[in-house]
Amino acid sequence: AWFRDEALQRVLALLDADGGEGRVVGGAVRNSLMGLPVADIDIATTLLPETVVERAEAAGIKAVPTGIAHGTVTLVIDGKPFEITTLRRDVETDGRRAVVAFSRDWQADAERRDLTINALYASADGVVVDLVGGLADLERRNIRFIGDAATRIAEDHLRILRFFRFFAYYGTGRPDAEGLRACAAAKSKISTLSAERVWSEMKKLLAAPDPGRALLWMRQIGILTEVLPETEKWGIDAIPGLIAAEQALGWPAEALLRLAAIVPPDAARLAKLAERLRLSKAEGAYLQAWANAPIVKDDISEAAFDRLLYRHDQTGVAVRLKLALAVARSKAEGDFEEMARVARLGKLLERTANWKKPAFPLNGADALATGVNPGPRVGELLGKIEQEWLDGNFLMNRASLLARLKDLANA
Ligand code: ATP
Ligand code: MG
Repeated sequence: AWFRDEALQRVLALLDADGGEGRVVGGAVRNSLMGLPVADIDIATTLLPETVVERAEAAGIKAVPTGIAHGTVTLVIDGKPFEITTLRRDVETDGRRAVVAFSRDWQADAERRDLTINALYASADGVVVDLVGGLADLERRNIRFIGDAATRIAEDHLRILRFFRFFAYYGTGRPDAEGLRACAAAKSKISTLSAERVWSEMKKLLAAPDPGRALLWMRQIGILTEVLPETEKWGIDAIPGLIAAEQALGWPAEALLRLAAIVPPDAARLAKLAERLRLSKAEGAYLQAWANAPIVKDDISEAAFDRLLYRHDQTGVAVRLKLALAVARSKAEGDFEEMARVARLGKLLERTANWKKPAFPLNGADALATGVNPGPRVGELLGKIEQEWLDGNFLMNRASLLARLKDLANA
């Protein structure tokens, strides 16, 4: 049905006119053949980027030159973006990124792509064009490089990670032996890639419905250590339990939660990881919040837990609880103690999700109003009373807190 989309058909008709040709390519074709949702639609065309822009503008369609040098123009119809890329062939490479030239040759365009399942095209009538044996591989869920695996990896070492990313999402059984061997042989080259490309690929891999098998293979041949040396001693044994918990409890598939399951909660090392892989500020903060959150005993009282939530980052505590719950869950079968632990951790997790941090009812002005001189004494006094308020389970109201403040200030 996505193929009969009016906007898509308009774009393809535009490209197909006057000796030009346009075909959907890559993820959209692959996913629709697998019956999976189609995210963004990439289109390949024999037309040059300037021509695509001209035709779009003549038809009153907004054209954004997102990467004219690489041959990419984005057309936006009804708010939907379509990435139109001129056919290309590889000309040279430094292993960090292939250098390409425009062409009008579909076979050459297919052959410069990474994996056979990513090189399927579909024309406007929905007919699939398979130039590198992608359909047979898709059917067998075989993730395979186009041509000689070692050569293709040498052209762009990111393809090592892409091999495992696509294996995580669409593969089955053992990874293709030639691909696996070529990845293992070239693993030391991952460090020459830009951190942004590595993390972007790794993040997608970690967010797969179940990245477990891919991570195991990556670990087996020493690739996981290249990207995440933090996993070396820690191991990846927590992944199956986490995935099972996510699926049973409806937690979303989050790359960072999966990452937290395989690296130690060490704030200093995680800061280095974030720096090395150029994580976003928010991603770095997530890991820090987790590392700085306390270990929560599952039999903690509600009151004590509320105090803990008041003093610590809610997201970080939730990550701690989820990981602990996943571990308990995987040990729970037939073990009543672990089953009870799972239930208690689940309650704490729910409490964390619903937690609204209460606002401390006093401020600096209240302290000054009691006659205390401006300075460190103000913070000290307020801090003391805030702790008493916490110890009293947030029950003391403003009036009683003010009275207490006066007492302390004049003591
Ligand atoms: P999704 O968008 O679902 O992650 P996709 O297959 O569309 O999957 P993209 O990363 O969007 O993946 O790339 C679009 C297409 O471009 C791929 O299907 C592949 O044919 C080609 N491609 C992308 N990156 C590379 C690369 N490093 N080497 C060779 N071909 C690539
Ligand atoms: Mg895509």
